[in-house]
Amino acid sequence: MIEFTSRGYTDLLSRFLAAGYAFAPATQAMAAPAPALFLSHDVDFSLIRAVAMAEAEHALGVTSTYYIMLANEHYNAVSVTGRALIRRLVELGHEVGLHWDSETYPGTREAAVSQFKAELGVLGSVVGAPVRTASQHRPASSDYLNFDDQIEVEAYSTTIRERFAYVSDSAMRWRERTPLDYLAARRDVQFTAHPVWWFTNAASADDKLREVVVEQHGLRDELCEAAISRMNRVLATRETTDAAFRAKRGWSKD
Ligand SMILES: [Zn+2]
Repeated sequence: MIEFTSRGYTDLLSRFLAAGYAFAPATQAMAAPAPALFLSHDVDFSLIRAVAMAEAEHALGVTSTYYIMLANEHYNAVSVTGRALIRRLVELGHEVGLHWDSETYPGTREAAVSQFKAELGVLGSVVGAPVRTASQHRPASSDYLNFDDQIEVEAYSTTIRERFAYVSDSAMRWRERTPLDYLAARRDVQFTAHPVWWFTNAASADDKLREVVVEQHGLRDELCEAAISRMNRVLATRETTDAAFRAKRGWSKD
């Protein structure tokens, strides 16, 4: 029985470590010695919880890949906060990849490839290095776009699939097998873990989702208050700052 808590997660990884598994982020997965664990994370809801997971992995001395979305309703990867959180992932030694959503992609192949490349470029500017890996958001339930030839490592590519047994914690419901079944068989494993299911306090999947959304609302409330304070500060000193700005530009009052 695997518990969906931060403790459950670190216990699970510890078992792979104890069994001698090599942990590999996406770009090292194919070269990793067997048995290997290609550990990746689809960040669908919260960069804050992703960083919590990344810190826990770092404490265990393992590295993984975090797939980040640019088109996401819950977090903003290019905001000041988003950039800082993504850079923290990199600082902790993890790899960052693009988690792209085909629902936001145009219909023609050429336009879709061009959007994919543009998104890789934007995420690369946040990371501070070229992005070398990508995975599709909800690949089973949305239109499939094959970008295998557009990126060094596509997480759901045939090459990866031929070597690794795939297991995901989607909606906290394992399918036929859990990661422990593959561990027992000493198979090479690709495990996609979503930070929200492990690094939250609530028990059910519904409440875990509510928890991360409420956490982000809290952050937005703080940003809102900070914006109000700033606006009032600017208004209080506006004549002086306007005059200084005009002087800098060499403009007269009108
Ligand atoms: Zn996803």
